[in-house]
Amino acid sequence: MTKKMKRRDFMRTGAVAGLTLAATKDEVAGFPMILKQSTVKPLVISSANGNRFKNGGDVTAVSKAFTMMTGGADVLDSVIAGVNIVELDPLDDSVGYGGLPNADGVVQLDSSVMHGPKKRAGAVGALEGVRTPSLVAKAVLENTDHHLIVGKGAQDFARDMGFKIEDDLNTENSRRKWLEWKRRTDPEHYLDPKKRADAGHKAALQMLAAGLLREENMHGTINCDAINSKGEICGVTTTSGLAWKIPGRIGDSPILGAGLYVDGAVGAAGSTGRGEANLFNLCSFVIVEEMRRGAHPKDAGMEVLNRIKNNTIEKRLLNARGLPNFGITFYMLNAKGEYAGVTMYEGGSYAICNENGPQTLKCDALLTGRPSD
Ligand code: ASP
Repeated sequence: MTKKMKRRDFMRTGAVAGLTLAATKDEVAGFPMILKQSTVKPLVISSANGNRFKNGGDVTAVSKAFTMMTGGADVLDSVIAGVNIVELDPLDDSVGYGGLPNADGVVQLDSSVMHGPKKRAGAVGALEGVRTPSLVAKAVLENTDHHLIVGKGAQDFARDMGFKIEDDLNTENSRRKWLEWKRRTDPEHYLDPKKRADAGHKAALQMLAAGLLREENMHGTINCDAINSKGEICGVTTTSGLAWKIPGRIGDSPILGAGLYVDGAVGAAGSTGRGEANLFNLCSFVIVEEMRRGAHPKDAGMEVLNRIKNNTIEKRLLNARGLPNFGITFYMLNAKGEYAGVTMYEGGSYAICNENGPQTLKCDALLTGRPSD
């Protein structure tokens, strides 16, 4: 130990973290003490909506999480409090209250949380009637032996845990968009899943072209991950999923290893965008494994984008250039506090908050042009 390092610069912990400097004997108690230097710069990273929506308040999700975490709050509690702002904000129609509903007009929400130091996880899928699915996912982590509860079971669990269950999480905006989508979708195709899916996709593309929807309306989610000065890492992902999905469809967001993965000693990764592409490749898990092998977060993210590109061979998923016709973005940080946001096509952004305050940054992109080119 150098003379410059004061005792308060170290913490005693039972866990061997990525930043362990040395182990010694506790002079008093006579049992091993792990010394961990508090040199990681605290950082919060999220999808771009984490530095956009404020739900009528003063702060965005990344600011809220950073302030809480650096004030000593648990890292998972901090990132969840951050994403709660977006879940509750009716203006973000891709997450929580006011999220675009499924094909039947019902808002079904997915969320997962992972706590690095505690090595615990919880998730809910296709949850109806609760504005903050991230808090229900946390209740799964804290109160059960399970990792994922879905559908009616998730709602019953939430009710038992004291959450308010509402009949309908649509806002006027989300219902209007759903009705417009329905109007454009031939109801005759309802019984033919393929034709119905094609008609629904076509209607959505028309609405995009007509400026009634933005790409992030179709796919939208918030992922938020953070590391505090002790090197503790946690993450959360929460979404209303794909707009007008087949009822019961669950995307990548509540699936550990897909929409979110945290290894407290290595790092965290999460995603927004086409969930099916992520589910097929389990990208968040792969990113964390790449970082475990020493890859920088950006290189780990590029690795999975390439994997998705190479595994996308169905014609319906390719554009005229033979490249994926969808967007997908990953956000990751490692135990050193290095981070990156990477995306399939240029133009995307992500958010961070560190000692310099909240910032929206440009993602590194794998491909040029747009998904539809
Ligand atoms: N990944 C989410 C899903 O597929 C949606 C999104 O982020 O766009 O459910």
